[in-house]
Amino acid sequence: MDTVSATAVVPSVVTATGHPLQCAGAWAVAVLARRSRPEEVTAADLDRVVAVVVEDAVRAAIAEKGTAAYDWWKVLFALYPNSKATHSKRPRDAAVLREALTALFAPDAVGSSAGGWPCTFCGARAGAVWTKSTLPMFDTNMALNTLPPNVPGWPVCRGCRVAAWALPYGAWVTAGSVTVLICEAPGVEREFVARNVREARRIMQLGFGARRSGARPELSAVRAVRALRSAVPAAATLWTFKNDNQDPWLRVVRTRQSLARFLAVVDGNAEPRRGWRLLELSLTKRGRDGRVETSGPDEAARLLFESDDGRGRSLLRHLHHLLHPREDSWNERDRAALTRLAFTYAEEILGMNPHLEPVATLVADWIEHGSGEPRGRLAEYRRVALNDYHLGHLLNRAQFRLMLDGRPVAAGPEDWRPFIERRPRAWEHRMLLAARVIQLLQERDVKVSDAAGSADEETERLVEQPILEPADGDFGDEMGEM
Ligand SMILES: [Zn+2]
Repeated sequence: MDTVSATAVVPSVVTATGHPLQCAGAWAVAVLARRSRPEEVTAADLDRVVAVVVEDAVRAAIAEKGTAAYDWWKVLFALYPNSKATHSKRPRDAAVLREALTALFAPDAVGSSAGGWPCTFCGARAGAVWTKSTLPMFDTNMALNTLPPNVPGWPVCRGCRVAAWALPYGAWVTAGSVTVLICEAPGVEREFVARNVREARRIMQLGFGARRSGARPELSAVRAVRALRSAVPAAATLWTFKNDNQDPWLRVVRTRQSLARFLAVVDGNAEPRRGWRLLELSLTKRGRDGRVETSGPDEAARLLFESDDGRGRSLLRHLHHLLHPREDSWNERDRAALTRLAFTYAEEILGMNPHLEPVATLVADWIEHGSGEPRGRLAEYRRVALNDYHLGHLLNRAQFRLMLDGRPVAAGPEDWRPFIERRPRAWEHRMLLAARVIQLLQERDVKVSDAAGSADEETERLVEQPILEPADGDFGDEMGEM
């Protein structure tokens, strides 16, 4: 029974599947076709998208080396190194190239004579088989012989073939790598793709030289999550890969599900928002000419992602190094802001609810009132603050000292167990404790350093600027939808 009744729902020509590359490509098709979702794309839309993709590829394939237009060829080469548009022996005649590329996206044959293979990605009937020359990340020389013998390639339907070549529009691209985003909240995927489609146009016109230095896909992804203003828990995952003939690789980083909630809390509260700006400014590096070389907002966004191999940097570790430099230079307000940011991250992202006050008070009391100079005891505490064993010793001594002196003792061994036991998040407990201890001392006017931590007007102006905004501007990023 293969007959189709007149009232049957027309199957969509493009479906976003769970495959990260296909999914990014399907969203790119939707954005290029000005549809709100891939499922709304019509066959006529697909024709128009094919024309755009082919024309852009033709222009890139015949561009002179070293021109801005040639940069799009580098993008295509990173994805389809052996295709008709990128091969070193490609024709330099636009008409010949156009015909060859258009043929890749020919409609699937319909009717009973059509091939019976389901599409590798979406399961729709596929009229073509594709191999690695046209499919990114398929069958690289790192993974040979993945096709069974006598099988000419993977069946791919027209919608997924167009998606595979719309991919560079929907991905964050560099001259050698591609990053796609997967998120449980589809609106985030669309937002990320829409930003990249605008960026693709800029690369084609102006080349990579026009991209601000230090720009990173993580900031684009974080801004996409934030733009949704949704409290729905949804993790964002970034897949970054290189697909050339020599040395392909893949790297995956992801955020926690509670990222949107964390961003909302930081955005909506002056103290952690100030902390986030201070973090961004601490990560900003400028060259001698004053131009940004490392962008703080981009680097800060990176700290919200964790890599599967555990090699990523940690936001709390970075905040700890910021809060405990050798020469303490934070004034009370800025220290409070950075400390509040650390607590917000621990609560919203890590789900921690640390009970710090009794133990922090004990340590601060001991530093303030123990024998000798407070500064010497502070130095001693800083040395052991992150070490479970030595911190336990210090807490015992502090308790004993205060008791001998007849002072109130704010905490006992029950209170400090979470800080010295070897269990998950113990390091984070100790880090937050150290932040709170220094903050308490500063509130009590215990002199903990020589630096006054004064802030000049220019610094204050920078701190007051909005968070997650690159310093040198990102023209086009905030332009309306296409
Ligand atoms: Zn398909």
